[in-house]
Amino acid sequence: MDNPYRRAAYLISAHRFSQLPPDSGWEVAFAGRSNAGKSSVINTLTDQKSLARTSKTPGRTQQIVMFSIDEQRRIADLPGYGYARVPQKLKAHWRDLMAAYFDRRQSLRGVVLVMDIRHPMRPFDTQMLDWCGAAGVPCQILMTKADKLSRGAAKSALLGLRKALPGQVGAQLFSTRGALGREELIAVLNAWFELGGARSAAKAR
Ligand code: GDP
Repeated sequence: MDNPYRRAAYLISAHRFSQLPPDSGWEVAFAGRSNAGKSSVINTLTDQKSLARTSKTPGRTQQIVMFSIDEQRRIADLPGYGYARVPQKLKAHWRDLMAAYFDRRQSLRGVVLVMDIRHPMRPFDTQMLDWCGAAGVPCQILMTKADKLSRGAAKSALLGLRKALPGQVGAQLFSTRGALGREELIAVLNAWFELGGARSAAKAR
């Protein structure tokens, strides 16, 4: 399958909503708790080793990092936070930025929510799903690091998760090992971005 996401290039990092690029065309956002594997997903999708950084610097966790696919299409790497102790100030900034983003970003066409298959549906994730629901934006959950479980266990984790999902939310397995799930993700993104073959991809979802 042709992979249009190989063309992805770094555009800008925004600490505030007002710093985002013009709100035109199509945008798909990637979200996930820190360490879930979001940077690895973006690097695997785009076939670029270090487009999204896999090492963390504290400041970066508060920024939306924007990548362009073409003049009209963008990927937004949303800030995540992870383990229990998050400074209150950082969390408040994150919440304000995300609320503004989901509420006001007209070009947002879909959200890819990355979860470690061993730790799905944490409060961060349900919050993201709530925002997607409120904004009427479809979501595709990636249960990543699927290689950490046996095939059977990964499949039953996926089936278990699917049962609990509202409409507009899809779920699939993913792993950087062998780029498991990349084609499925590309099909979903192509549909949201209205890129070639979008109609059949939408059906597959
Ligand atoms: P982020 O904080 O969500 O961007 O997470 P990273 O992409 O930096 O990944 C966190 C850690 O998980 C890193 O050590 C990655 O090498 C590891 N990781 C990410 N994806 C996978 C995967 O599919 N399989 C395995 N085994 N490890 C992964």
